[in-house]
Amino acid sequence: MRLRLDRQALAANWRALDRLSGDAQAGAAIKADAYGLGMDLVAPVLRAAGARQFYVAHWGEVEKLLRHVPAAEISVLHGPADPAQAVYARELGVRPVINTPRQAAFWRDAGGALCDVMVDSGINRLGVSPHALGDPAIAGLQVDTLLSHLASADEDCEQNARQLATFNGLAGSVPARRRSMANSAGIALGPDYAFDMTRPGLALYGGVPRAELAQHIAQVAYPQAAVLQIRNLSPGDAVGYNATFHAPRQMRAATVSLGYADGLLRCWPAGTKFHHGGAELPLIGRVSMDMIVLDCSAAPDLCEGDWIDLPYHLPDAAKHSDFSQYELLTMLGDRYDRVIF
Ligand SMILES: *Cc1c(COP(=O)(O)O)cnc(C)c1O
Repeated sequence: MRLRLDRQALAANWRALDRLSGDAQAGAAIKADAYGLGMDLVAPVLRAAGARQFYVAHWGEVEKLLRHVPAAEISVLHGPADPAQAVYARELGVRPVINTPRQAAFWRDAGGALCDVMVDSGINRLGVSPHALGDPAIAGLQVDTLLSHLASADEDCEQNARQLATFNGLAGSVPARRRSMANSAGIALGPDYAFDMTRPGLALYGGVPRAELAQHIAQVAYPQAAVLQIRNLSPGDAVGYNATFHAPRQMRAATVSLGYADGLLRCWPAGTKFHHGGAELPLIGRVSMDMIVLDCSAAPDLCEGDWIDLPYHLPDAAKHSDFSQYELLTMLGDRYDRVIF
């Protein structure tokens, strides 16, 4: 099993999002092991393309990123949950994103320094509520970037403008060197949402959260799995656990090394089309933990060891499965050999 990553597409996506960010600089959300693609492969490409601000969610993600990116370019979105994490950030020189007055106190007690602050402008998830910005612990912070996060940037709805107005209204109350609001979809909402820094994630990796971005974003991740065995089925033969498929005719079937432990969950519909060269190979029977079976009647030359392409053009794959483009990326798992070409 391998996950092939297109270096050119990844770099071009960052440059396109940076360009679409206008006067603002595009950073990069690289949390969750670069949305499942692999931080060690993705981070150097994004930095070489020009990214100078990287966002992870957890403290456990910092060490890996530090192999590729200077500490001063790293922000940790979840902030310090205890004094030790604040001290850790100080020692390394990475910036915590402060989300609560309690986190602000941990940061102050660790010695303080430039940090980021997330303000909640209406998503009601993580971040300082506007009314708490006057808390003395928050007011005492030295703020590099004041962040906020959009709840529905992938939709045309009035919540976007409402959040923007809220964020604009707070500008005076928190002095900061920079402001940042837009994720990938937010970049497509236009220059009012860009401020000084944008934070694309999904679109870097080939996701298209809004139609406006489709022409600018290329597929990055190409998962492939190898054929383990080929067999001929006779009419009536049952395939897989619980015999959910019976061959309607004489047919060839390929058993492929890929299962729900690799992110191909059982809810992918029967008939989902995998590919080998130009041939379409529909999924038959149940998905197992480590294997699937495909109808390979359309590929008479298919052999053991051949590579099969997963249906991973993200906008299409999301339409044909029950998954969001985010889930499709982050659920791939760690049994793929990740290679960049
Ligand atoms: C994950 C995340 C992003 C990136 O969002 P995408 O929709 O993947 O572009 C930006 N900002 C914050 C705070 C995030 O948590």
